Amino acid sequence: MGILIKNGTIVTAGDTYAADVLVEGEVISLIGRRLAEAGQTVVDAAGKLVMPGGIDVHTHLELPVSNTVSSDDFFTGQRAAAFGGTTSHIDFAIQPKGGSLSDGLAHWHEKAAGKACIDYGFHANVTDAHEGIYAELPELPEQGVTSVKLLMAYKGTFQVDDTTLFRVMQAAARHGLLVMVHAENGDVIAELTAGLLAEGKVAPHYHLAAHPEAAEAEATCRAVSMAGISGALLYVVHMTCAGAVEQLAIGRAKGYPVMGESCSQYLIVFEDRLQGADEDPFAGAKYVCSPPLRTEMDAEVLWEALADQTLQAVSTDHCPFYYEGGRDGRPPGKELGRENFTRIPNGLPGIEDRLVVTWHLGVNGGRISPNRFVALTSANPARIFGLYPRKGTIAVGSDADLLIWDPAARRTISAGRQHMACDYNIYEGLEVQGWPEKLFLRGRLIVDGDRWLGEQGGGRFLHRQRSEWL
Ligand SMILES: [Zn+2]
Repeated sequence: MGILIKNGTIVTAGDTYAADVLVEGEVISLIGRRLAEAGQTVVDAAGKLVMPGGIDVHTHLELPVSNTVSSDDFFTGQRAAAFGGTTSHIDFAIQPKGGSLSDGLAHWHEKAAGKACIDYGFHANVTDAHEGIYAELPELPEQGVTSVKLLMAYKGTFQVDDTTLFRVMQAAARHGLLVMVHAENGDVIAELTAGLLAEGKVAPHYHLAAHPEAAEAEATCRAVSMAGISGALLYVVHMTCAGAVEQLAIGRAKGYPVMGESCSQYLIVFEDRLQGADEDPFAGAKYVCSPPLRTEMDAEVLWEALADQTLQAVSTDHCPFYYEGGRDGRPPGKELGRENFTRIPNGLPGIEDRLVVTWHLGVNGGRISPNRFVALTSANPARIFGLYPRKGTIAVGSDADLLIWDPAARRTISAGRQHMACDYNIYEGLEVQGWPEKLFLRGRLIVDGDRWLGEQGGGRFLHRQRSEWL
């Protein structure tokens, strides 16, 4: 006995058509018109869209940062993702200093074990490029890990130098790994930050002055150039601004194997938020993330790039911290930086809101088609990160990760009704049209309206294949 989703409109990255979908076990077994109902559990999707579940390739669940940890773990964060229509995500397994990439992966497997309720994979995050990691890189694909990430910023903690970045790219090119970079010039940021602190400039909005657009554009240019020289497949994470997009576009025009993502927050939440409010000047801390929020003009450039395939994906960089943490059982949060903006943990909540925000602004806003929406939020992430066509599409034999989407439903986003472990929402008060109605993970209904039907331990590790260059 299977599940028959009747009368819906199927939307994939390539097609829109009316058809029924039959799910047997964990996979899609048949797609067609007027499929027989006898013996099946029927779900009526009349008036609804049936799309592949969302894939968020940039998240940080339970990430330790100086003095605290991001507030969503592998259960709360994944459940929140599911309420937002996402069935898979890829998190960053951080190499411990002096340790191996495998140590980092083992630690992240432990975090997810028994908690995961959607499917998940890992990127190997290089933080300490001792000789040992070059022996490990060729073996990562056997562990189902085909992407490595390096950070060009966060001097003194995560930042790697150009020698390391280039060596890893050369190794990645040899072994068919995808290189992801956080592209900001960490040396420049460190100097600017020291200067601001020396002048007593400690309020949250000085975070913007420490992270200029040109520092992102410059690092993007450097990473893109090195990808061109080494032949490594490059994916620039969380691109925020016109200057950086321009550098990626130049690289793509030259035929370099480079790609990039933006995140939903950069499309609608802008740098003025860091000024805080009259009644609470520190409220700007809620919006401190790196790279920082930019301007509405940058957002328009990002939308053009998302529409014309200069950028390939929309992720979240979900990395939540409470505004008022360190009490009531909460880990310390943004209050850590009350006296000094450099101590504000960097990151925003968003794993739950990605699809509704991107749909509302993009599709309702006339900037992208529903097919392009699926490409940016599911199909392209699946292809770039070695999950396609098992994930990211609706096809016979694919995992039955199915999102039934109500394009007419209207909701107002609010922290009061969110599932993320956080005491605020960066989209607070945003009225959106289009909302997830039901979500199936490998054939199992895990979200039905406001009801949670998933289970801890129901999520599975994704052993990924090699990346595709789009
Ligand atoms: Zn990140």
